[in-house]
Amino acid sequence: MVLRISASPNAESVLLPGKRSSWKRLFPPDLEREGLICVFRRLLISSRVTAAKDNRMNDRFGREINYLRVSVTDRCNLRCVYCMPPEGVPLLRHEDILRYEEILTVLAAAKKMGISHVRITGGEPLVRKDLDHLVRGIAAMGFEDISMTTNGTLLAGYAQILKEAGLIRVNVSLDSLRPDRFSKITRTGRIEDALAGIQAAVRAGLEPVKVNVVVMAGWNLDEVADMARLTLNLPVHVRFIEYMPIGPSDGMEEVSGVSSDLIMAEISKTVPGGLEVSTAPSGAGPARTYRAAGAKGTIGFISAMSKPFCDSCNRLRLTPDGKLRPCLASAIEVDVKEILRSSRQGSKMREIEEAFRRAILSKPGAHELWDRESQARRMCQIGG
Ligand code: SAM
Ligand code: SF4
Repeated sequence: MVLRISASPNAESVLLPGKRSSWKRLFPPDLEREGLICVFRRLLISSRVTAAKDNRMNDRFGREINYLRVSVTDRCNLRCVYCMPPEGVPLLRHEDILRYEEILTVLAAAKKMGISHVRITGGEPLVRKDLDHLVRGIAAMGFEDISMTTNGTLLAGYAQILKEAGLIRVNVSLDSLRPDRFSKITRTGRIEDALAGIQAAVRAGLEPVKVNVVVMAGWNLDEVADMARLTLNLPVHVRFIEYMPIGPSDGMEEVSGVSSDLIMAEISKTVPGGLEVSTAPSGAGPARTYRAAGAKGTIGFISAMSKPFCDSCNRLRLTPDGKLRPCLASAIEVDVKEILRSSRQGSKMREIEEAFRRAILSKPGAHELWDRESQARRMCQIGG
């Protein structure tokens, strides 16, 4: 008898989403009798590819994967200097973008495979028509958390509708509080629209509202203390994100990132009473969280470059054209669109679940953000 212990595409043997007791079903009774199963189990543990209790999934490094970011479009109404070149990116054909019912099918499989947290993103998710239909479908599936990342400029018109559809909370990107600078960083945006979006989100109860700031030397570093001070009187959670060199550099504006330590030092200079460690407002995110004395909101730092959090990474991404990405900064992709469009109805779910297994098994231990040349997609084409 040949035993396979591998991370091959069909490696049912190394990752099981089902109950622990379902392990045995994979092994013939004679093997069980000979006690070899114990050896096999020990090997599974030592290779750190673990089957999980219930429907939870662990990867080769023992990380539980329970979070899926779903990018619904590669289109965007802005052109942020750190994300894409001024002319934008070559766009996918409409027929190559997953339809809402296809996304829901993937999510049904994801839920069975242990995904409990879903984030809708893009491109800009709000440029896609009828997003509330998708949110309603996701909400009906009973995920623990449904959130969205948006640039906020269209949010004022949708916050209430999305809340009613079942969206729980939003993260809004806002890289400057100065109108001229906001327009310079986004190349096309108006700060009034983004601020109106944030206000509408708070009014609609899409809380906690988190504000994402990508900090860049020479662009907005001198504003970090002003942004941190927003948390003193407003119940918002400002998160400072280190710039990541994702995707090809051609046509990109000269942007240099700033380490979280430097950002924190800038903030500490002027925030009264300094910062104390705090618990994160919600979600399963990688931010290290602080609070200024007496503040209503919190301040977070997402330090992918200076303090990588790969050890606790719990996420997968689904690109708009139906590829599962185990890591933002690795070219590895597992195609689910092909399965959605060409598999027989009877086997489709099983094959998508298998695709999830493959994606999880191929999740790298750490990101390769320093190797920009190996990355073909930009953030907006993956789903940030
Ligand atoms: N359009 C939406 C937005 O801007 O919030 C959602 C998509 S955007 C790609 C998701 C997040 O990625 C945003 O918070 C954005 O600031 C961040 N982002 C984009 N490019 C980045 C980069 N090179 N480094 C760090 N963060 C980046
Ligand atoms: Fe668009 Fe978001 Fe990228 Fe800015 S960061 S260009 S808003 S996708």
